[in-house]
Amino acid sequence: LRGVVALDGPSGTGKSSVARRLASTLGARYLDTGAMYRAITLAVLRAGVDLADPAEVTRVARAATLVQGTDPERSTTHLDGADVGVEIRGPEVTLAVSPVSAVAEVRALLVAEQRRVIATALDEAGGIVVEGRDIGTTVAPDAALKVYVTADAEARAARRAKQDAASGRPSTLDATLADVQRRDAYDSTRAVSPLRAADDAVVLDTTSLDLAGVLAALLALVDE
Ligand code: C5P
Repeated sequence: LRGVVALDGPSGTGKSSVARRLASTLGARYLDTGAMYRAITLAVLRAGVDLADPAEVTRVARAATLVQGTDPERSTTHLDGADVGVEIRGPEVTLAVSPVSAVAEVRALLVAEQRRVIATALDEAGGIVVEGRDIGTTVAPDAALKVYVTADAEARAARRAKQDAASGRPSTLDATLADVQRRDAYDSTRAVSPLRAADDAVVLDTTSLDLAGVLAALLALVDE
């Protein structure tokens, strides 16, 4: 793969697992931008500042040292020198991440860092799969391929619940569906870079596909 593959879409589409597999298969790097928003959210929660105060949230985001790895076999997130890979998937962060991600300065800071990481990966490996909400529209508008991955809300909630169970986090389908819908509504209606498909993105509905099916569909698009 030469260049950037942008994978955007709401939560629970199986986007992360497939993005990692796609990068591995192509010998490319992988960037999980959601992990970066989650890490900044963890910093904000730890600092104990008011989530509704953009100036305070921005201050914490600026002071944080965030290092997001790009190895698809082992995607790592370090905040102020410590591995926070597990903590950023917890319910506290998941609940707070949308409002933190809606702060314009937080996005400006992270988009700049994401572009820097992408440029480095392109120099070193030639290609990178970047996963998020605004990759095709904002972070990498010149991406070689843009795919907007979607699925029915019920299918997405079921996948999230399965992931939660696999990693030992108890959850119910109803609560997970409510969380998925809440986060999508928030992400789609925020003022800065709302979640939407880029005009030139291919829309891939994964409702009735398993991981292998989604990977096959993406590999076919890369080959086109
Ligand atoms: O992908 P993941 O579910 O880990 O993303 C967590 C949250 O981070 C999303 O719900 C969204 O609010 C935010 N996000 C974003 N822009 C991105 C990636 C994630 O706003 N590029």
